[in-house]
Amino acid sequence: MYEGAVQDLIDELGALPGVGPKSAQRIAFHILSADSADVMRLANALRVVKEKVRFCENCGNIAEAPTCRICQDPRRDTTLICVVEEAKDVEVIERTGSYRGLYHVLGGAIDPIKGLGPEQLRIRQLLGRLTNVREVIIATDPNIEGEATATYLARMLETMQVPASRLALGLPVGGDLEYADEITLGRAFEGRRLLS
Ligand SMILES: [Zn+2]
Repeated sequence: MYEGAVQDLIDELGALPGVGPKSAQRIAFHILSADSADVMRLANALRVVKEKVRFCENCGNIAEAPTCRICQDPRRDTTLICVVEEAKDVEVIERTGSYRGLYHVLGGAIDPIKGLGPEQLRIRQLLGRLTNVREVIIATDPNIEGEATATYLARMLETMQVPASRLALGLPVGGDLEYADEITLGRAFEGRRLLS
């Protein structure tokens, strides 16, 4: 344990995803010895991101306006909606260059252990976007929660008679969409198949 402010910083850093106690300590001491201007730039970036960045009213992607740059782009194919769990997955799919439609960010996956059901996700908003949509591509993570979410969505879309597809083989089972390389994800997109 360190003195007040240093320990507070270590605690805050340690609460971040992927930062263990040792890393938190290393980052804290890096900040302590770093140039004051550099640290202020970091502090400012943290402040600005919380002030300026919000979630797109339409798709739930990150945005610096009421809607995100993808929803605003007139060149996107508005008859395609790709459903992902998190906003970071949008960027992963964008990097493949394989997709020119719109997105819908659910804000997670169905996970009964964490108390996350369909009502906690942006599923109702998705169902409100389906007019003139020719296909919904379900790109939830290839793990248990992602599969459960995909199955749930596929059933809902079937009753609404909206064609749905799921990303195909090529993605590692039990993995996380954000760790897939562009080629794997690109092929998975090309090989997607219609459900039912
Ligand atoms: Zn959007």
